[in-house]
Amino acid sequence: MSIFGNNIFGNKATDSIPGTGTGPAAPQKSDADWRQELTPEEYHVLREAGTERPYTGEYWDTHTAGAYHCRACGAELFTSNEKFDSHCGWPSFWAPLAEGAVRYIHDRTLGMERVEVRCANCDSHLGHVFEGEGYGTPTDQRFCINSVSLKLVPRSDAEEDSGNTES
Ligand SMILES: [Zn+2]
Repeated sequence: MSIFGNNIFGNKATDSIPGTGTGPAAPQKSDADWRQELTPEEYHVLREAGTERPYTGEYWDTHTAGAYHCRACGAELFTSNEKFDSHCGWPSFWAPLAEGAVRYIHDRTLGMERVEVRCANCDSHLGHVFEGEGYGTPTDQRFCINSVSLKLVPRSDAEEDSGNTES
């Protein structure tokens, strides 16, 4: 209730980095940096390998054409071309943008053997990849990715033919 609760000294002190130009987003960030840059939900998923609740994310049912970037570092990870309707409640892709865009880690938590998918650039958690589930996609893989790990950049203007080609 104190009127001093809102003064500038009430702001949480941070270890501000002295004014050294650190250049563009270096992948090596401290935990404190991540906490500052990301929302609590983003931090939980990206840096603590959390999982958003199904059907709550921003992109699980999105069909907008564009590229999906890493929410943490901005690296391009997936495109709408490989996104498909898995009806699992999370954005699903049958392949990453490029093999080098993501990296894989065997995850044995929860008593299951799963393959975790991380951003190859900043090592943030994205989701998991599953295989052989019978989806009619070219790879039969499902990259089950948290919306909160991604940022969709809609494709600007029509690149050449913008009709409804085969989809
Ligand atoms: Zn990243």
